[in-house]
Order: sequence, then structure tokens, then C-alpha cells
Amino acid sequence: MSKPWDAVIIGGGAAGLFCSGVAGQLGKKVLVLDHAEVLGEKIRISGGGRCNFTNLHSSPANFLSLNPHYVKSALARYSAQDFIKLVQTYRIAYHEKHQGQLFCDDSAKQIIDMLMGECAKGKVQIRHPVVINAISYEGGEWLIQTDSGVEHSRSVVMATGGLPVPAIGATAFSLDIAKQYGLRVIDPRPALVPLSFTSGEFENLNALAGLSLPVRIAAGSKGDRYGTCRFHEDLLLTHKGLSGPAVLQASSYWAEGEAIHID
Ligand SMILES: Cc1cc2nc3c(=O)[nH]c(=O)nc-3n(C[C@H](O)[C@H](O)[C@H](O)COP(=O)(O)OP(=O)(O)OC[C@H]3O[C@@H](n4cnc5c(N)ncnc54)[C@H](O)[C@@H]3O)c2cc1C
Repeated sequence: MSKPWDAVIIGGGAAGLFCSGVAGQLGKKVLVLDHAEVLGEKIRISGGGRCNFTNLHSSPANFLSLNPHYVKSALARYSAQDFIKLVQTYRIAYHEKHQGQLFCDDSAKQIIDMLMGECAKGKVQIRHPVVINAISYEGGEWLIQTDSGVEHSRSVVMATGGLPVPAIGATAFSLDIAKQYGLRVIDPRPALVPLSFTSGEFENLNALAGLSLPVRIAAGSKGDRYGTCRFHEDLLLTHKGLSGPAVLQASSYWAEGEAIHID
């Protein structure tokens, strides 16, 4: 039997490729497994094809988590500035769009190539498309059963991403594995999404579809999940409902049945 991997990373998207590159460059023997024909598809479509890769003003206050301390320690070890330096090392041209948002001038594909470049530096092996049938822990190591054999590893990183856009490979695989190992799972729900009207109550707003205007928006409820929010941003009326940065931001705090206040 060959020597086990130090880490098998399941999922070769933004998180999996970044993690693999760092681990590989620390001298770890790393294997990435992904079921997709093409890697990094969600990065490719991000930011309208130009990838909004970070924000100049990124701070722990911009992240939603039931454990706000986690992001403090994560950002203390690797900040937005560190990522910008990496982008500059790869000579990727970028620009600031709105309130510190940084986008590639040319294409999100450059970010995928950069992450692949980091993996190559760390001698990371990437195997895809591979079907992962089961993961188990036996005799002090992880066994990853795939359609092309069994991999042995000291550790496993689950990086299969969230549920949006199943057409490009998204699955609930990591959630299923978490449940298999009895980890507490917070029910996933959409965030950073537009809101659709589900009754005819707002039909008279259809005539205004396409109109964008600055608003003050408030949503959420005190003491529940992430609490309440207030944003001063643009709202866009669409044929289906409400969108624009104000609504996308507020959607992360809103729960069905609650009021949203818009001024
Ligand atoms: C339309 C759109 C635009 C976006 N724009 C931006 C933006 O501009 N800026 C930004 O920061 N974020 C943006 N996002 C969010 C961003 O794309 C995601 O947060 C990011 O890609 C998540 O990375 P990830 O590695 O966690 O997951 P993914 O990138 O989804 O990667 C998961 C990987 O796991 C693989 N996988 C899934 N299930 C399995 C399985 N069972 N077996 C093996 N492999 C599996 C998938 O094939 C995929 O390669 C956008 C998202 C969307 C949908």
C-alpha cells in the first residue's frame, strides 16, 4: 500500500483549491478530488464573469456567523490585503467598483489560474472527475472510497461548497457527511439573494420594473440568528420582486413571515 496522503481535499472550488495550495506549500502531501469535469466553475461565473475577489474594507463585522470569533481569528491570520498581494504577484489587473469591491479587469478565469498555480507550487495532485462513494475512519486513518479506488489519508477537508447552482456541480455532500458524523448542522437557507413577490399584492409595482433608487432598509429580528440589520444602499425593482445591493444584503437577515422596512 502506498504512503497515505497528509490531506485529501474533497471539492476543488475556491475554498478547496486555496486550502490545497497552502497545505502543499507547507510541505504536505495533498490530493484534491472533485466530481466535476471542469474545476472552478463557480469562480468563473462570479462577479458577472470578473470575480469580485475581495473588498478593501473587509473586516470581521462583514461576516455573518453564529460564532463571530471564528472569523476574527481567520482574518487575523490571512487578511484581504494578503489576498490582494497574491493577486498582484500573478499580475492580475483589477479595479475598485463600489465601496471597496475589487474585480478583475479581464476575467474571473485569472483567479482560477492563480489558484491552480498555487496548487502546482505545492505539488498538489488534482483528480477529476471522480465519484466519491463513502468516507470512513478506520484504524487511525481516513478511507475515501472512490470509483477509481480507495485513498488513505491522515486528514480530510470537506470543501464541496454550498447548495446554489446544482447545474455546475453543487451538492449537499458535506452536509450529509456532517450528519453522518453527528455534527450539529444549522439548516441552510438562501443568503445574498433577490426577493420574489409571491402574491398579487404588489402587482402595481410591475410598471416600475427596472427602476433603481437609494433606500434605507432594515430586516431581521433581535436575538434571532444574526439579529437585525440596517443598510443604506441601492434597491432595484424587477419584474419578479426586489433586488439590488440593499435587498441582497437584507436577505441574509430576513426570515419568511417577517417584515422588511424600506424607506
Ligand atoms: C452567480 C454567482 C456569483 C457570485 N459572485 C461572487 C463574487 O463576485 N465574489 C465572491 O466572493 N463570491 C461570489 N459568489 C459566491 C462564490 O462563488 C462562492 O462563495 C464560492 O465559489 C464558494 O467556494 P467553495 O469552494 O466553497 O464552493 P464551490 O466553488 O462551489 O466549489 C465546490 C466544489 O466541490 C465540488 N463538489 C460538490 N459536490 C461534490 C461531491 N459530491 N463530490 C465531489 N466534488 C463535489 C464541486 O464540483 C465544486 O468544484 C457568487 C456565487 C454565484 C452563484
